[in-house]
Amino acid sequence: MLVKTILNTIEKFKSFIYRKTYWEEIAGENSLVNELLPRKNSQGECCQCTKRCPTYDTQPSRDYEYVPLWGIRVYFRYSPRRVTCKEHGIHVELVPWADGKERMTKSYQSFLAHWAKRLSWKEVANIFKTSWESVYRSVKWVVDYGLSHRDWDDVEQIGVDELAVFKGHKYLTLVYQLDKGRRRLLWCGMDRKVKTLLRFFRQFGKERCLKLKFVCSDMWKPYLKVIKKKAINALNILDRFHIMKKFNEAIDEVRRQEVKKLEMEEKENVLVNGRWLLLKKAANLTQKQTHRLNKLLKINLASIRAYLLREDFQRFWTYKSPAWAEKFLEDWATRTMRSKIAPMKKVARMLRSHKKLILNWFQAKGELSSGPVEGLNNKAKLAMRKAYGFKSVNCLQIALYHQLGKLIEPPTTHRFC
Ligand SMILES: [Zn+2]
Repeated sequence: MLVKTILNTIEKFKSFIYRKTYWEEIAGENSLVNELLPRKNSQGECCQCTKRCPTYDTQPSRDYEYVPLWGIRVYFRYSPRRVTCKEHGIHVELVPWADGKERMTKSYQSFLAHWAKRLSWKEVANIFKTSWESVYRSVKWVVDYGLSHRDWDDVEQIGVDELAVFKGHKYLTLVYQLDKGRRRLLWCGMDRKVKTLLRFFRQFGKERCLKLKFVCSDMWKPYLKVIKKKAINALNILDRFHIMKKFNEAIDEVRRQEVKKLEMEEKENVLVNGRWLLLKKAANLTQKQTHRLNKLLKINLASIRAYLLREDFQRFWTYKSPAWAEKFLEDWATRTMRSKIAPMKKVARMLRSHKKLILNWFQAKGELSSGPVEGLNNKAKLAMRKAYGFKSVNCLQIALYHQLGKLIEPPTTHRFC
């Protein structure tokens, strides 16, 4: 069977034909070159209006990289025509297999982007002997297509989250859709200021804002301010995931202070490797870890007391009645304020001052769980790692949309992977 036959099966073009296939050394590698020709008497399309126009001249041939076959590089070779459009003047014609000046075919870009969902960008580049930049451009092409075709009409529940990037020196604001079965990243923007979230709501549009029923967020003031102003019909909920995150931050702070203190007093430092023991839910510990935790608990350290305060607070989420939940929260805060552990007292004060929004959780119960927010947050962190090597925020945003956006993909005639 000829390669031509395969190509005509998986990637047939109406106005072009595959002429012949041959070996050629390209960039030091034996490659498979497929020559393409325009159909006889056909005219090229203007790249601005896609009207067929008379040929002006023919350009030297260009190679477009195609999906590799059996580890062999494959190229399309074509000499594009320049066409004279009455409206737009002289331009290089539009070809169906590649975009503008791009030298990778659309099929190859889709192919790389598919793999970049499963593996890190660097691994994809290594496996297919291409550059990190090529993988990046491929993902970007697929994401750009998806973003220009995305649909925001069925959004009733959203979550606003922040993500520390570039070693925590900067932040991204992420907006997720949380409706059941439609969980995805809707939007992400640099920073976590009032301006940042306003940008999302402006893009989201007034009408859609009015339809929002629930907005999940953390206690970050600029977010709360914008949500109150823009999502006027929605219940703003401070969700479980974000609140428990504050507890973990506080426990970690207590632990760090205590490690320092123990070091200075040269006592046996039981806390050095204890970080994860204290941050994990008790139910998730292994037997060995439980044993170590029990040992830790015997010593009356502030870290342990902070840990116990958090474990105790978990009961809050099991209440059915908001009134009882409120009473519990008040009792807990009173006890914590007496604890003399400054970071925990800070948490208690924070809970008190945001009590109303926290209790909204019980109003929405049944309709909203913290699972999705936590899940999406973890996925976002994973996406960041997969795109490792990104140099700009823009690049990071593309990676996040690619992994979490559930975007529509550009149409293809054949699925390679
Ligand atoms: Zn035109």
